[in-house]
Amino acid sequence: MGERSNDNVILLLKNKGLSVTYSRKLLLETFLATNVAVSQLKLCKIFNGQLDKATIYRTLRLFVKKKLLYVVPTTDLSIAYAFYADQSASTLNGHSHFICEKCNKTFYLNGVNIPPISLPPHLNVTRSETFIYGICNECKKSRQSKLINP
Ligand SMILES: [Zn+2]
Repeated sequence: MGERSNDNVILLLKNKGLSVTYSRKLLLETFLATNVAVSQLKLCKIFNGQLDKATIYRTLRLFVKKKLLYVVPTTDLSIAYAFYADQSASTLNGHSHFICEKCNKTFYLNGVNIPPISLPPHLNVTRSETFIYGICNECKKSRQSKLINP
């Protein structure tokens, strides 16, 4: 983790009116360093001995409330979290995700625009999210290599 990402994390926390603590910095850095959604269980494993479960849980809830993270459903029905990649994006724009049906990883698709859908006029959209299911590149590769060398 370089100096720049450290500055970035501090700035993000401050912009949300949050004080900079060790656990907040550590957790936010984790989300910034990946483009896949991370589950609470996985975070507990990563920070085993460093952060306790209650702190991780509380921090995740806070980050969701402050719109630093959002909740992403996974195919195994556990809850994962992902960083709001574009802090300035309108909620109407929506987020699109790709969920791999094989490894259950959730990737968020930056810069993928889903065309607007037309709804009946009496419905007001407050936010939208799109989930696309399929097989990720890594799983596709391992499947192909198994076909060549079974
Ligand atoms: Zn996969």
